[in-house]
Amino acid sequence: MQEISAESLPLAKVFAAPGRYIQGQGSIGRLGGVVEQLGSKKPLVLYDPIVLEILGDDLGGMPGSDPVEFGGECSPEEIDRVSEAASLAGADAVVGIGGGKVLDTAKAVAHPAGLPLVVVPTIASTDAPTSSLAVVYDSDGAFKEYRFFGRNPDAVIVDTAIIVGAPIRFLVAGIGDGLSTYFEADSSSKTSKEAMSGGSPTLAALTLARLCYDTLLEYGLPARLAAERGAVTPAFEKVVEANTLLSGLGFESGGLAAAHSVHNGLTALEGTHDYWHGEKVAFGVITMLMLEGRPTEVVEELVDFCLTVGLPVTLADIGIGDADRRDLDEVAEAACAEGETIHNEPFNVYPRMVVDAMLAADAFGHQRRAILEGEARLPAVAE
Ligand SMILES: [Zn+2]
Repeated sequence: MQEISAESLPLAKVFAAPGRYIQGQGSIGRLGGVVEQLGSKKPLVLYDPIVLEILGDDLGGMPGSDPVEFGGECSPEEIDRVSEAASLAGADAVVGIGGGKVLDTAKAVAHPAGLPLVVVPTIASTDAPTSSLAVVYDSDGAFKEYRFFGRNPDAVIVDTAIIVGAPIRFLVAGIGDGLSTYFEADSSSKTSKEAMSGGSPTLAALTLARLCYDTLLEYGLPARLAAERGAVTPAFEKVVEANTLLSGLGFESGGLAAAHSVHNGLTALEGTHDYWHGEKVAFGVITMLMLEGRPTEVVEELVDFCLTVGLPVTLADIGIGDADRRDLDEVAEAACAEGETIHNEPFNVYPRMVVDAMLAADAFGHQRRAILEGEARLPAVAE
């Protein structure tokens, strides 16, 4: 048989997923058992301080070494600090409890050390929990790099009774993050570029990405309204699953493209730092649709949904209403930096195109808001 060189073959498909995903009211009660099943007797627990209010000072009776309080940013310094604590304590697993940055730090500690990892998101604001990568920021909050570990968490435990108790803005930001998944997977799958999983997308990843978008559009509003009353309903459960599992699997194995690069670029402007990942991603998706020249009805559907559910649709909505062209140039340069996922778009993208797309997205957002003004709608949570 003639030898076939790897370069002459199409990219292999890769689907990455956590070992187990558990979602439901009271599911944090399974944490001890899950840790035990992984063979751990002394996990290092990294927690967000807010968790003490939910679980009590003893973190719900978690076994293991002294818990470590998260320092506030998933930065190289913080990762080093927690890694040192884990090795000093002789930890045999890592449990991360909190928001996306806590979970990403837990990944960056557990994976290089070869330790089992359980993550317990306390909010549904990003798709970080299920993935194998960490988003690392510098200590003042600007995007620095992605770190890839080639391993996903062993278990993800999502207690919807905890999630519903979090401020509503988290859920809405998670919807913003989830809105990007389908469009980014759709665009990047048209190229021969690798997804975050290290291969091309499976049918499973593309289908889950689409299901994520359809679920958010269908159930986003009733989920938000129920959560405002502290009610866990089937719509709320569906949106938590879309924000966390569907979006997580969809982005990692389906591929990222322009929306997340625009997000990363936006972090270069100080004014956006009070706005969360999913809020900036929402504006990033609208920008991406403009950049790609998607049909008006597609853009309208997305922007109107954002307005309905309370997501940003203009530059002012993410704190940079006074941005001039020079500011936007800075965002666009950062968005188009080497290695950015914007280069997974099926055409060449240059900074000038991104500036124009942001201006067009901003104008469209203003226009749709003006048209919908006067109709019953919710105030933006980010205000
Ligand atoms: Zn995201």
